[in-house]
Amino acid sequence: MDPAKDNRTTEHKQRIRRLRKMIIAAAAFLLILPTVLSVVALVRIGSMNARLDEITSLLNTMNANMNISVHESDEPKSRAAGGPTPLQEKSLNAADGEAEAVQDYSGMKKVYLTFDDGPSKYTDDILDILAEYDVKATFFVNGREGFDAEYMRITLEGHSIGMHSYSHAYDKVYADLDSFAEDLYDIQQLIKDITGQYCRLYRFPGGSSNAVHHMPMAECIEYLDVKGIRYFDWNVSGGDAMAEPHSATQIVNDVCAQVRAVGSDTVVVLLHDAAGKRSTVEALPVLIEKLKAMDDVVLLPITDETELIQHVRP
Ligand SMILES: [Zn+2]
Repeated sequence: MDPAKDNRTTEHKQRIRRLRKMIIAAAAFLLILPTVLSVVALVRIGSMNARLDEITSLLNTMNANMNISVHESDEPKSRAAGGPTPLQEKSLNAADGEAEAVQDYSGMKKVYLTFDDGPSKYTDDILDILAEYDVKATFFVNGREGFDAEYMRITLEGHSIGMHSYSHAYDKVYADLDSFAEDLYDIQQLIKDITGQYCRLYRFPGGSSNAVHHMPMAECIEYLDVKGIRYFDWNVSGGDAMAEPHSATQIVNDVCAQVRAVGSDTVVVLLHDAAGKRSTVEALPVLIEKLKAMDDVVLLPITDETELIQHVRP
């Protein structure tokens, strides 16, 4: 036999074997590919279904909350004989917002208790006390994780919710207008996601007269104006923001004295809802009792109708 021919035959056989292996591999790949793709598709459909369930349950919760909210806002009005006329539309900022619009408080001091920096570990205590005394207040909140129930409680129990920046970090909030706008968007979105409310109420960290801004405050104020957001400062301070917060007794005495002395019928009281401000919680029941005992004082939540109290107005 010709050795050269023999070699060629062997090479030819080897080529055929390689080709056969490649064809088998390709066929196996083509068979496996659809199976793999089907499995991937099934996993993705599964996760989309789970997400859909999540969204559906969130929508159901929001619907239920809206029903409770409308129901609760009507309840005190029907209970109180001679109370304000129920209105058809519900304020976005406070369930009792209509009350101020229709009730005549002329000659009265309208006192607005406001709590900054929450939610905190004390929010539930503050809300319990307010509920016990049937008082509505205003919470200027920051963006905090793990407090969804507190944000919800504030709104469901008829209090006003306002923004106090997301981060409360002066370097970020007041770095420049873009940074201010981004921080504002974050807190507005957080409140909307949790409570369903589109918040249009703001309190500047440090107040509009703060000395920590790195940009003209006029720019921030103009930005809020354009967005249709009203901001509130205060004309009475509880003194609970000091490095050494006042004692409960001091807070009660200071606030009551200032409420008496302030030359305005609109009195916005600055208090804090923050870890480390235990004395504010302790002061609250006595403070409410003393304020309620003043004949010409009515305690209200801030609404769209509330007269503005602002330190700086360019
Ligand atoms: Zn603050």
